Amino acid sequence: MSSNLVIVYHRQPYEEVEVDGKIEYRENKSPNGIVPTLKSFFGRVDKGAWIAWKHADDPANPDFERVIEIDDAYGKYTVSRLPLTPEQVTSFYHVSSKEAFWPILHGFKERYNYDPVDWPTFREVNWAFAEAAAAEAAEGAVVWVHDYNLWLVPGYLRTLRPDVKISFFHHTPFPNADIFNVLPWRKEILESLLACDVVGFHIPRYVNNFVSAARSLLEVETLKREKVKPELASETSALSEQSVVTEVGFDGRTVRLQASPVGVDVEYIEQLASSDKTAAKVKEIKQEIGDGQLILSVGRTDYTKGGIEQLESFERLLESRPDLRGKVRLMHVSVAANSNMTAYEEIQRDLEHLAGKINGRYGSFEWQPIALISRPVPFEDLVAYYRAADVAWITPLADGMNLVCKEYCAARTDEDGVLVLSEFAGAAVELAAAVPANPFSHKSMDGAIQFALDLPLEERRGRMISNRKMVKLQDIRFWAEDQMQAFGDEVLPADIAD
Ligand code: UDP
Repeated sequence: MSSNLVIVYHRQPYEEVEVDGKIEYRENKSPNGIVPTLKSFFGRVDKGAWIAWKHADDPANPDFERVIEIDDAYGKYTVSRLPLTPEQVTSFYHVSSKEAFWPILHGFKERYNYDPVDWPTFREVNWAFAEAAAAEAAEGAVVWVHDYNLWLVPGYLRTLRPDVKISFFHHTPFPNADIFNVLPWRKEILESLLACDVVGFHIPRYVNNFVSAARSLLEVETLKREKVKPELASETSALSEQSVVTEVGFDGRTVRLQASPVGVDVEYIEQLASSDKTAAKVKEIKQEIGDGQLILSVGRTDYTKGGIEQLESFERLLESRPDLRGKVRLMHVSVAANSNMTAYEEIQRDLEHLAGKINGRYGSFEWQPIALISRPVPFEDLVAYYRAADVAWITPLADGMNLVCKEYCAARTDEDGVLVLSEFAGAAVELAAAVPANPFSHKSMDGAIQFALDLPLEERRGRMISNRKMVKLQDIRFWAEDQMQAFGDEVLPADIAD
């Protein structure tokens, strides 16, 4: 019970590497910088702790190191690893979270698969996280919980430790009551979230949706509603709101609601983008493309990402614009993050089938219109593709935020390149200068990509300058500060390094 800041995040904050039979903990430089940014807060408190889970075939094994002390560039902190068996991980993470909650959070009711949900296991795992956080937190500490896998942690923690300050951040969209209430455990989840002091979402729409769901089931009073900041109200986004609820009352307590879009580590990306290694790789890619144009699409293989709809639009482009045949290439990176799940395997197959059909119909020995990449591209290489791509075509059907589009803008220190962005990505409320596309409309999708390919340099530059300004302003540090400022300087003094 000695940490002033406890971060509860399902992933461990480092990479475990075995060197000469010994485990070493190495910095895991996630490209979007969320993990390092969270860790940077440890430098501001006397003591920090991180709670995560770790695979354990036998949780009772005495050799399992449950608590370890880390001393790295971020200072000294404790990591509590909860031993979860493969069965628990499958039930809690792959089944409950990915097959039941994920489709509902993204508005895909028809994909909701409730039969295999093992709610008691979900509760059990969340309870274990709450207990571990309660054991680490000092009197009055801040406990910062992340994402829907840990929905029940705030409620449990509040009963175990009424003194701590709880903040919860949702890294996905939050749907409205009509969709959220499909979940049979809706009330329990909402009551848990309302036990927080602060609940954060990417954008105002998700905040208002959360309030609509909470009000449909519980006596929740709206205490404060404010006009949305202009930075989060792009008129070209289908997700923009005019006003947002910022405080609600429940069970005698006040809960603050916050819209803070996650950003990217602009400094790091700019540094990579300006390196000689990147320049050499960009040259290679450009030689390969010749005088044609490169369209880049990057995402996980997931029905929410709209990969099929995008390839269909690309097929219509080649059909209606014979002048582009042989001149334009689509690099479609679709990485399978959740292996062994039927829904994702099906999409992967459909993508391969469609890309093969289009390449067969329009391609030649010298020119293949689509390069479909299913293996993850290392981030350093991805940055080179960002620099080389004439257009980034990012058109999810639903996406909480989407960081790829922000990374593309961050990498374009040359102020060139066009971003075509779905109106249904959270990032669209910030990136008003992107070319908007509605992936549910053929006309909009087809019009947007043609518009982007034909855009003259001056307009490309104007749009990129404006998008880059927003990406730089609302970067990853801005997001973290915004979330934590709710608790004031007393617990987390301002970063002296700034
Ligand atoms: N990414 C990567 N290599 C790939 C594909 C994606 O490093 O081959 C990274 C990408 O740079 C981004 C993240 O994966 O940081 C995807 O984040 P995003 O928010 O766009 O989508 P999510 O997968 O979280 O829904």
